[in-house]
Amino acid sequence: MKWKEQILNLRAYQPGKSIDEVKKQYQLDSIIKLASNENPYGHSPNVDHVLNEFDSSYMLYPDGNASSIREATALALDVDEKQLIFTNGTDELVQVISRAMLEQGKNTVMATPTFPQYKHAAIIEGAEVREVGLADGNHDLNKMLSEIDKDTAIVWVCSPNNPTGSYIPKDELIHFLERVPSDVLVVLDEAYFEYVTDPFDSLPLIEKFSNLVIMRTFSKIYGLASFRIGYGISTLKNIQALEPIRLPFNTNVLGQLAATAAISDQDFVNQCSKKNSDELEKYYSFCEENNLHYFPSEGNFILIDFQRDGDEVAEFLLSKGLIVRSGKSLGFPTSARITIGLEKQNEQVRSVLNEFILS
Ligand SMILES: *Cc1c(COP(=O)(O)O)cnc(C)c1O
Repeated sequence: MKWKEQILNLRAYQPGKSIDEVKKQYQLDSIIKLASNENPYGHSPNVDHVLNEFDSSYMLYPDGNASSIREATALALDVDEKQLIFTNGTDELVQVISRAMLEQGKNTVMATPTFPQYKHAAIIEGAEVREVGLADGNHDLNKMLSEIDKDTAIVWVCSPNNPTGSYIPKDELIHFLERVPSDVLVVLDEAYFEYVTDPFDSLPLIEKFSNLVIMRTFSKIYGLASFRIGYGISTLKNIQALEPIRLPFNTNVLGQLAATAAISDQDFVNQCSKKNSDELEKYYSFCEENNLHYFPSEGNFILIDFQRDGDEVAEFLLSKGLIVRSGKSLGFPTSARITIGLEKQNEQVRSVLNEFILS
């Protein structure tokens, strides 16, 4: 068979253990999953309302233009509808951008550790991947600039960064964008934008920098991960170039309905963001009391260094019914990434962590 050479060593995405698997394995009744940065508060009640009203016309293809969510998002963000592309989660947008630009002979620059899909997509397209180590959890933007050459097609910037939670301040980002050649696409992944405590509005940057694409998602603070709706915002030109690359019916009808209802409820978003910040503070205190290194996070997760094998931490929590992400596969072998859950859930995590530290 004539497989692309570069895909032969790729592995399919390894999802964390499912709630059912853990229940069976440890004979537990209740499991708390804090491994994928999902929203512990669920979703806006508006979503249930529109889904209950749906007339079950499942035989019909969805609207390939995603008109309802397009209109609602354009309104919410104050951008032109044609400046938006909707995809099957931002995961698909990473793939679409990579397919549109990357091939053998081109390269792409990104931080490491960061969201793994940028690299995965680049490998499939046969492009060279240039990874620049984080500096104390932050993107090393100067080093990333120095990796750009005439064959660079895309630079990925994840802010807040998964898995460290670091957020790039406005002046640093602008300073960077001013130095990236205008024919190199910069993709700013803002999957956790709505969690940032003191965010700056990145959307106006699109007018100034025509090589910028911003990615956002309904999977995180909107609590709609199962519906798979993500989107990109850029200039009309960039969106026009990307649109033909996506699948014709890439977003499904229920997802479109749910996301449209969700974006109109910004009170829900603000409440989740506020509670998340309060809960993060309690983790910071916990880490400081126990002399554990952590990265201050602008996302809904925290990466804590336990100075022990990350798998060991994750296994210990798992045996008590708490699913978190070992740092081992995330590039931080002695850490664990813990999603910020409900108050009671976080208390439970910290109490089990206390046990672990003493074990
Ligand atoms: C979760 C996540 C995504 C993917 O989100 P989907 O829209 O569900 O595909 C993208 N980027 C980062 C940094 C993430 O953490």
